[in-house]
Amino acid sequence: MKLTILGSGTCGSQMPGVENRQPPAFVVESKTQTIMFDCSEGVRFRLEKAGFDYVKINHICISHSHPDHYAFVHFFQSIGCINSWLGPHNERIDLYAPRQITESFNTLWAMYTPDDPEREKRIWPHLELHPMTNPDKQERKIGEHKLTSYSVYHGFGQVDACAFRLEADGRNFVYSGDTGDCDGIREAAEGADLFLCEASARIHDVENPYKYGHLTPKAAGDIALKAGVKHLVFFHYTGLNTDDEMIADCRKSGYEGPLTIAKDFQQLDF
Ligand SMILES: [Zn+2]
Ligand SMILES: [Zn+2]
Repeated sequence: MKLTILGSGTCGSQMPGVENRQPPAFVVESKTQTIMFDCSEGVRFRLEKAGFDYVKINHICISHSHPDHYAFVHFFQSIGCINSWLGPHNERIDLYAPRQITESFNTLWAMYTPDDPEREKRIWPHLELHPMTNPDKQERKIGEHKLTSYSVYHGFGQVDACAFRLEADGRNFVYSGDTGDCDGIREAAEGADLFLCEASARIHDVENPYKYGHLTPKAAGDIALKAGVKHLVFFHYTGLNTDDEMIADCRKSGYEGPLTIAKDFQQLDF
């Protein structure tokens, strides 16, 4: 399995000390599948730069509706237009997302494209919407792989958000999305070979995991320790704490395993 980091940062750029950190998007490749996790602004440019044929990506998991994770309309339009101009290149996309997204997509699409609210199939790929929350722990097969969702706490509990676990080729990949400290993320992370975990709360902001719903490095480390995670990878950090500060804060949790502070376009095998 291979993870490609397309965005290790947040919605903020031009912040002090923050370079080359774009908003969250990731690709996991197995022997047979290519799956994208979150779809942030301009992701197709980053996919191209990383060597992917973005038009061929047809399994996309969205953690929640915040715009730094969910700019799918733009991606979808691009593929539809490629289909229109160059002939069918991608005729179906499976979108795995919280119910808040799957149930509002048609409204969102109609707002963007009042000229084609029905998504005529001659241009637009067929969009298969998979509601992954309410109830959570939805399971879907992607080829031979198993994708499972876990509802998580985020945005004062007002945002329908989930983490994902992908079991493929005998390995377990877990993606936190945005989350505070909650049962869902602890269960999702259990025994992960690679746990791609947000760490967007600043180190001093120790109440955030239980208030707004982001993790400090130490809170993420505590989850990884208790879950027996084999490799912890941080993303979604502001850059307002240095890498060394984040590592030191995480180690206070007692987690001693491999720890990577992800950078854009980094690739990790697991
Ligand atoms: Zn969020
Ligand atoms: Zn976010």
